[in-house]
Amino acid sequence: MRMTKDKTPISESTDVEKTDNNSDKKKDPSKKLANLRMIWDAAKHYPKQIFAAAIALIIAAVATISIPVSLRYIVDEGFSASGGDIAPYFQGLLVIVLILAVATAARFYFVSWLGERVVADIRMKVHENLLRLAPRFFEENRPSEIASRMTSDTAIIEQVVGTTVSIALRNIILGILGVVVLFFLAPKLTAGLLIGIPITIFPIVLIGRKLEKTSRKSQDRVADVGSIISETLGAMKIVQAFGQEKREYERFGEKVDETFEMAKKRIRLRAMLTSIVIGLIFGGITLLMWSGANAVSSGTMTGGTIFSFVVTGGLVAGSFGALTEVYGDLVRGSGAASRLAELMREIPEIAPPANPIALPSPPRGQLNFDHISFRYPTRPEHLALDNFSLKVEPGETVAVVGPSGAGKSTLFQLAQRFYDPESGSVRLDGVALPSTDPADIRKRLAFVPQDTILFAASARDNLRYGNWNASDDEIWAAANQANASEFLETLTEGLNTFLGEDGARLSGGQRQRIAIARAILRDAPILLLDEATSALDAKSERLVQDALDKLMQDRTTIVIAHRLATVRNADRIIVMDEGRIVEQGTHEELNKAKGLYNDLAKLQFNH
Ligand code: ATP
Repeated sequence: MRMTKDKTPISESTDVEKTDNNSDKKKDPSKKLANLRMIWDAAKHYPKQIFAAAIALIIAAVATISIPVSLRYIVDEGFSASGGDIAPYFQGLLVIVLILAVATAARFYFVSWLGERVVADIRMKVHENLLRLAPRFFEENRPSEIASRMTSDTAIIEQVVGTTVSIALRNIILGILGVVVLFFLAPKLTAGLLIGIPITIFPIVLIGRKLEKTSRKSQDRVADVGSIISETLGAMKIVQAFGQEKREYERFGEKVDETFEMAKKRIRLRAMLTSIVIGLIFGGITLLMWSGANAVSSGTMTGGTIFSFVVTGGLVAGSFGALTEVYGDLVRGSGAASRLAELMREIPEIAPPANPIALPSPPRGQLNFDHISFRYPTRPEHLALDNFSLKVEPGETVAVVGPSGAGKSTLFQLAQRFYDPESGSVRLDGVALPSTDPADIRKRLAFVPQDTILFAASARDNLRYGNWNASDDEIWAAANQANASEFLETLTEGLNTFLGEDGARLSGGQRQRIAIARAILRDAPILLLDEATSALDAKSERLVQDALDKLMQDRTTIVIAHRLATVRNADRIIVMDEGRIVEQGTHEELNKAKGLYNDLAKLQFNH
């Protein structure tokens, strides 16, 4: 459903990348972390916070490692039979604890701040690019999946910046300082410890790699669950109306089970990794303690030294343990960053040219479809428009009729340059659409779609979507003209009334009138009406039709209508079938011609 011939949807490309990683194991392993660069690029704008976090991190690490060192003196002096003055040692320890507490809090604050800030910036950048992408992208990639990337992948990045990097740095510093301290305490024992480390690291890295792959798959499954739930929630009324609750429950259940199975694999690997880490490291420490104990009994080492060695050794072991987890998290973060980078770097297919030609001013309102052939990218086998030509003159009203699927709405898609045709060109006031800025094209068109899309916002915001700067007076005037003011006045809070998710609190006819009011506010030279009055009752339709007639007077209009009664007054009616014009003329001419229009008219008026 999402596949096309020549373009890879984001989720698919992630799969491709996955297999690339799998098949090409010799590839530079640093590649796996390559996308972390994007996170760094986002973070480097905040050098003050990075500096503060780094300082806090270093102070906390030094303070941590000083604790076992001071314990050495406390044990040797404080617990020895000779009983020296222990107060300074404990006072020193208290100062270290205080420094540790403050530095840790500062580290947490700055690092978390950075995590949240980076995520906020990345979200904004991704969103900015999404807003520029052509509809094709959203047909090939499920919007719910994109939405879940924006939340789950950014959460991973937040974790990387806010936790993982800090854990990594803290443990690297702790590990290095710890080893230095260990050497200072007992060089021979430390040498033994350092031999043990590679033996420990090897199996850890091996399992760690497997864990990474599983983590990624697990993440993909979670994204699937997210997209399935948002799909069902968005269509809850349809699900219930068609009694498909059980099927949806089962479909969801399957995905949840898949997610759980994948999570189980991940948890199993992580559990294994943890036990190996703990077993090897603490096993090694035990062995070291044993030989240390021998050293104490033979009098070559003090009790305090061995005590301090064990605690420091524990810290070093903990650091290495934490570092093994860090690698997996970093890889996960890199994966998340790569998916977000794809969204961020996706090049808009429909974009202004380098040197856009300005549309003539003042606008004339001429629209010319010249030998257009077009297929929707997601249906490459089907010609939606087949060598279609139509010239709409300024001020003219052209009605487009024809059976469902004839390609009528497609004309509007191309007029707004949501897609480019395969051959032929669309011209607005003589300018070919690709040579000018799409935003300028759209400014000259007021579109009333078949299905009115409303936002979960106030009535005012929904209306002024046509012209955001419109005053309340202008909004009311437009609503009046669209015959919408009557029901708007009955809303409890007037224009401030919240219309519910996708305007769920309005009837079909009311929604349509809002769409018409929006187009009125848009005040564009060309009107594109797609079944603009289809959801209205006969009386409202008459009123809205009157409003539209007035609006259409000095504008170019293309109106698509199934109901022929609404198009009788058009200057010209074109009849479309299978992406082509099969007839054209006035209502009278077409009626006489006894062609497709006549058939459609007969069907309608007999009912
Ligand atoms: P209706 O009167 O039912 O609205 P229409 O004449 O407006 O029909 P179009 O919406 O222009 O028909 O569709 C023309 C053809 O293109 C149809 O076969 C339709 O299935 C197909 N089509 C429309 N939109 C898309 C899309 N986004 N992706 C793929 N195919 C599409």
